[in-house]
Amino acid sequence: MLDYHVLLHYLCSRKQDTHFTVTESSILQGKRAAYFTLGCKLNFAETATIAHQLEQYGVQSARKGERADICIVNTCSVTEVADHKCRQAIHKLVRHHSGAFVVVMGCYAQLKPEEVASISGVSLVLRQSEKGKVVDYIMKALTEDHSGTESEEGESEPFVPSCSRGERTRYFLKVQDGCNYFCTYCTIPFARGRSRNGSIASLVEQAQQAAAEGGKEIVLTGVNIGDFGRSTGESFLDLLRALDEVEGIERYRISSIEPNLLTDEVLQFCASSRAFMPHFHIPLQSGSDEVLRLMHRRYDTSLFYNKVSRARELMPDCFIGVDVIVGTRGETSSLFDEAERFIESLPISQLHVFSYSERPGTAALRIPHVVSPKEKHERSQRLLAISNQKLSSFYERYLGQSRPVLLEHSRRRGIYNGFTDNYIKIEYHSTEHQDNRLVTLSLTGWNEDHNALLAE
Ligand code: SF4
Repeated sequence: MLDYHVLLHYLCSRKQDTHFTVTESSILQGKRAAYFTLGCKLNFAETATIAHQLEQYGVQSARKGERADICIVNTCSVTEVADHKCRQAIHKLVRHHSGAFVVVMGCYAQLKPEEVASISGVSLVLRQSEKGKVVDYIMKALTEDHSGTESEEGESEPFVPSCSRGERTRYFLKVQDGCNYFCTYCTIPFARGRSRNGSIASLVEQAQQAAAEGGKEIVLTGVNIGDFGRSTGESFLDLLRALDEVEGIERYRISSIEPNLLTDEVLQFCASSRAFMPHFHIPLQSGSDEVLRLMHRRYDTSLFYNKVSRARELMPDCFIGVDVIVGTRGETSSLFDEAERFIESLPISQLHVFSYSERPGTAALRIPHVVSPKEKHERSQRLLAISNQKLSSFYERYLGQSRPVLLEHSRRRGIYNGFTDNYIKIEYHSTEHQDNRLVTLSLTGWNEDHNALLAE
């Protein structure tokens, strides 16, 4: 969301440049728009003209129940009631079309621009004199907003391959780097550049090399793994299929994948593959749709819930770890309560809780509501309590069962750690060398520190 001062600056700078490139005009192609008009006939006529102009660029009106990418609100301010109706309409549009680019114009916007700009979800407030240029402004703003998404820039940055064993038994194979998402709190796209990846052939070769060195388990890493294929035109699913064929590698794990990119095909493949483990790590970041929208995340809670439920349906034993950030700007206490309730309802195994910290240069700094360090701490504690409870009950389900475990060396003499296929941490006592052995063990009880299950 842009704030009003940014918008004014933007509008002023725009005046000198009214020519659009092909990229700018094509950004509208296939988008959907929702319109809301209040007041006089003139407003209705203007809205119809704007709809017609947008149509010329391939923007269709959103049908009932369809999510719009652009919302146009043409307001009236004839009475207090009219103002109130306009505010209500804006809130409703923002709610129904989460993440849409919301433009507000008309008399109410002209008279109370600051008030309109402060409504959460409003992207652009136009003066009366600017109404005629609304299409230009939308095009420009969307092009800037998505400049990372479709940019070719990242492709010129080289993908540096990496497959390392490090200190651990597992290998870490970097399959992708960079990100085009520009979540408002994140600096990674600036720091690591645009999304790019290695080719499937080169990655398979690295996996074969790891297998030749005796590696049995590979963790696929990347910044935004599900976005794999940007620089090679290949698909993430094809990468998984090819890696699954590599002889000698008994296990793969996907380090973390954005929920919107965790497709049903990927889930189905993992459920039936030879070597992909029933283990997912999915960033949620917030369980509140409003906060997700402020973060510019590309999904809502219902999509997240469906993905997690589908994974659980296809792989009832799978471990699902979920990242959450607490105390982001805009996370009021009632939004946090809502998020907490949602998180509690998820059929997941563990949470990874992070406290939000301000990053210079990020768009999140424009969001007005700031959460105090004390509140952040309290919220972290609340989510950690949920995580502990979910992890304990997940582990307890497997007590008394046997599961395959890849044993890994530990710093303590005679004690091996390792993980089951479904990512339960185990502790195994042996005087013999057991590192990198894949064995089936029975899970007998909790270890002394209560952070792993004892196996024998
Ligand atoms: Fe990309 Fe993840 Fe950062 Fe969002 S949070 S911009 S998806 S790296």
